[in-house]
Amino acid sequence: MALVQIENVSKIYRTGEIEIAALSNISLSIEKSAFVSFVGPSGSGKTTMLNMIGCLDKPSSGRILVDGQQVDKFNRQKRAAFRGDVIGFIFQSFNLFPVLTAYENIEYPLVMIKNEPAQKREEMILTVLDSVGMLDQKDKFPDQLSGGQKQRIAVARALITQPKLVMADEPTANLDKTSSINVIRLMREMKDKFGTTFIFSTHDPRIMEEAEITHTLVDGKLS
Ligand code: ADP
Ligand code: MG
Repeated sequence: MALVQIENVSKIYRTGEIEIAALSNISLSIEKSAFVSFVGPSGSGKTTMLNMIGCLDKPSSGRILVDGQQVDKFNRQKRAAFRGDVIGFIFQSFNLFPVLTAYENIEYPLVMIKNEPAQKREEMILTVLDSVGMLDQKDKFPDQLSGGQKQRIAVARALITQPKLVMADEPTANLDKTSSINVIRLMREMKDKFGTTFIFSTHDPRIMEEAEITHTLVDGKLS
């Protein structure tokens, strides 16, 4: 069974009298361990699509199954619990805590979500720090790291809870060309290493080429 299955999904935003169809009748599926990008110009529906798959929001109509569960039926609370169990997130602006070190930023979701014993926790953090090539930077604070390094820490933080799925909405938008390609390649390496499914969005043509599967959105429709 596919890890993500989207069936006839539409999302309409209503602001006062105005209705915007951000997604129109989208159907697609994403297999486990896939490396998938959603591409398209600004306003084409990429963020809306990722928010649906990431269980941050729900569709106006249609069905979404993630890891065998029909998540569009979930209420807010269930969505939050499901995200904690199944999904990791990487953000465009890194979203690291400035007062925590690289190590502590990665530790944070473990403390919040999983009740791992201290020694096991340390082992997990060091392993993932090593995987993203940041072991020697572990005691630095975010403002002592470059953009590319910050995003490496954010990738590690997303992976620390061992999610089946990692969502990244324009993860390279604040990075230069070299760092952008390096971060996407790191994500692909992590997919190979841990079997994690990665879904990201971008409007950068150089980054699109790095995906294994690309879905193009235009005005909320697949093209
Ligand atoms: P992208 O990420 O590709 O730039 P979005 O998914 O953010 O596209 O937006 C798709 C469309 O939906 C755009 O027309 C945008 O203005 C609209 N939209 C997005 N979020 C909202 C919202 N919360 N309320 C109203 N309209 C929205
Ligand atoms: Mg967007």
